[in-house]
Amino acid sequence: MALYADLHRHLGGAIHPRIIYKFLQRHEHSVLNYFPDYEGFYNWFTRPCRTLEEFVKIHTLVEELQSLEHLPYFILRLCRGAYTFENLQYMELRYNPYFRTDHRLAVNQRIEQMEKIVEMISANLRPADYPITVKQIICLDRRLPKNINEAILRVARESLGPVVGLDIAGPEIDPENYQTWVKLFAKARSSGLKTTAHLGETGIDNVHYDYFPVLDRIGHGIHIPLIKPEWLKELAKRQITLEVCPTSYRQTGVLKDIGELRTVFTRCREAGVAIAICTDNPGRNPAPCTLPGEYERLIDHDVIDFHELKEIQNESFRSAFGFAGTRL
Ligand SMILES: [Zn+2]
Repeated sequence: MALYADLHRHLGGAIHPRIIYKFLQRHEHSVLNYFPDYEGFYNWFTRPCRTLEEFVKIHTLVEELQSLEHLPYFILRLCRGAYTFENLQYMELRYNPYFRTDHRLAVNQRIEQMEKIVEMISANLRPADYPITVKQIICLDRRLPKNINEAILRVARESLGPVVGLDIAGPEIDPENYQTWVKLFAKARSSGLKTTAHLGETGIDNVHYDYFPVLDRIGHGIHIPLIKPEWLKELAKRQITLEVCPTSYRQTGVLKDIGELRTVFTRCREAGVAIAICTDNPGRNPAPCTLPGEYERLIDHDVIDFHELKEIQNESFRSAFGFAGTRL
């Protein structure tokens, strides 16, 4: 049996809607007033959105549920599902620790609590019965003020080991602030963290050339081959891998059809830029959305050929930030 690696998966978007619904029932959550039955919740939770902003709003609900005390519930289910139903040997899970702190606390107390959040996640990522290796990528967010993002980076540096990388997520706003992020990524790298950034997902505005020297991978970046293919040479030179998440683009309204990724794959192949196929937010996609399912969809839409599959799967292990074991 082949085992796979997923390098781009959000803790907030990785949980199956059935698991979230059961959690809401168990806690008699007020959201159930809107969704008395599972079907209504499922349709709302997995519906395609018109924009990334709209998509991120639903994400916020799950982030709030994943508080310190409830994290073990979600993490166990996430690991066992990925191992059992997707044959994952290795996964990089990303999240923003600040959004999981207690919202009733003052900002400085929330900043303090972030360390506990990372510890709680680290302690629960190795369920005995499901031998999957999971490493963490900590996310900054463009919507948060500078002091909180700096504190997030601090927590990531202090948790090096279980945490292997730094990312920036959230809506693609304020492209003019790129220097702030470039500096934080440079700092992260100097302390041994690897780096990836959500860039070029919805357009090209947020992609600045200055990011390239401080990034190991780019989350999505599909608008580079689509709009600025002349930059691919630089990505190839720096061995920057693109994390491409096919179904996501339909869910966030970025692409109408997965077949549009053909240009992305062809141009990257010609320029020598590696692509890792990932799932992003599989719990938010109509079921079943798994990593093997994403491979199949790409073949089905003539984006890749079956004979390329093995090499593409290998690429995920090669571009991983924290894979040190032997492939099974
Ligand atoms: Zn993402």
